[in-house]
Amino acid sequence: MAENKPKNDVMEKIVSLAKRRGFVFPGSEIYGGLAGTFDYGPLGVVLKENVERLWLQMFRDDRDDMYGIDSAILMNPKIWEASGHVGSFSDPLMDCKKCKERVRGDKLIEEKLGIEAVVGKSLQEIGEIIKKNKITCPKCGSGDFTEARSFNLMFKTHQGVIENATDLIYLRPETAQGIFINFKNVVQTSRKRIPFGIAQIGKSFRNEITPGNFTYRTREFEQMEIEYFMEPGDKEMVKKTFDEWKKEVFDWFLGLGIKKENLRFREHDQKELSHYSSMTVDVEYKFPFGWGELMGLADRGQFDLTQHETFSKENLKYLDPMTNKQYLPHVIEPSFGVERTILTVLLDAYDEDKVNNEDRVVMRFSPKIAPVTVAILPLMKKPELTKVAEKIYKDLRKKFKVEYDDSGAIGKRYRRQDEIGTPFAITVDYDTLEDKAVTLRDRDSTKQKRVKIEELEEKIEKLLTTP
Ligand SMILES: [Zn+2]
Repeated sequence: MAENKPKNDVMEKIVSLAKRRGFVFPGSEIYGGLAGTFDYGPLGVVLKENVERLWLQMFRDDRDDMYGIDSAILMNPKIWEASGHVGSFSDPLMDCKKCKERVRGDKLIEEKLGIEAVVGKSLQEIGEIIKKNKITCPKCGSGDFTEARSFNLMFKTHQGVIENATDLIYLRPETAQGIFINFKNVVQTSRKRIPFGIAQIGKSFRNEITPGNFTYRTREFEQMEIEYFMEPGDKEMVKKTFDEWKKEVFDWFLGLGIKKENLRFREHDQKELSHYSSMTVDVEYKFPFGWGELMGLADRGQFDLTQHETFSKENLKYLDPMTNKQYLPHVIEPSFGVERTILTVLLDAYDEDKVNNEDRVVMRFSPKIAPVTVAILPLMKKPELTKVAEKIYKDLRKKFKVEYDDSGAIGKRYRRQDEIGTPFAITVDYDTLEDKAVTLRDRDSTKQKRVKIEELEEKIEKLLTTP
């Protein structure tokens, strides 16, 4: 079983399987690549869509208190001054004097001494901690670094044909601000009253100094973010709402089929909190390289709307139609990363076992997110069998993600479906011509059952909805 393997081994296996089977490719590969970029292949894109669809369903469509928006990536640069990103969204950058490797001082310390050693430390302190603990360059082993300096993580670009300082803009480093600046628009055009939230999925960009661990830390990534607006002032109500979200976001990962023992909460301590937050809890996953952040739940208070009101000089207050009270809402923010979720799903699903004394690699995806739900496999490529199989394929594809495969030995075809995580496989054999039934194979147990063709749809539907 996967649990007994050396852990980094699992990461290597996932990277290789992801490429071999078309989940995730290295970015710009035929040109020698571009560090920290990845492209999603035919199966990866469906997996991603399935995960995002479930997220929208749980957090937007199945709730009475949520809306969606889709805001622009390019925004007025004043927004990033107001949000604090121009001033303080930076990492401590250091260069190894010997091999010129660029490193994040805080990460070097965190890896050696744990996160507690680095939270809230100044640039100068970071340099001192590295010297004192003889932390060395991860590439060449030298301990000779430049002083730590602040490096802003926002990607800069220019709008318009002539490049000058006045048309400098940024690629958004988070989708959250697109929600805040549209708060007034949503209030004015919709009928929900506070408390309500706005959800958005979209790309964000951060010029990370050290991207790595496959798709865990990348410079271009997708976020699934929610800003939840409520009346300020009532601390107990805020705490209660925060705790409700805490449960919801954890349940979301369990709903994807992630094993509970690989998930945990981690509360940020006072020094570690971002400039905008008074309370943050991460959901972490036990990655092969250690526990790592999967999503963050932050109490942002009134920080962002206050800032935007000041910088834009627009009145952003909410007028309660029942009480006539006017206020800037208190905000709770659940923020998820799509790539990290996908990586987690891949790692968590990976397993190896033996079937009929043969080694098998199997991706145990939840049927709700597997890129292919049902594989249709005629036992042999004979017209009398393929005719029936094609008919089943055409019928079922209206309802499910279905793949048809009639080439090669049946055992080999099962192995391929196991490796891409297809939960169900239908085999059409010669008995089918007599009994109008097929075998339905379960990926995890490899057990096969005889099912009437006319009952297939209902049967699969049932299997999909039972956990
Ligand atoms: Zn070095």
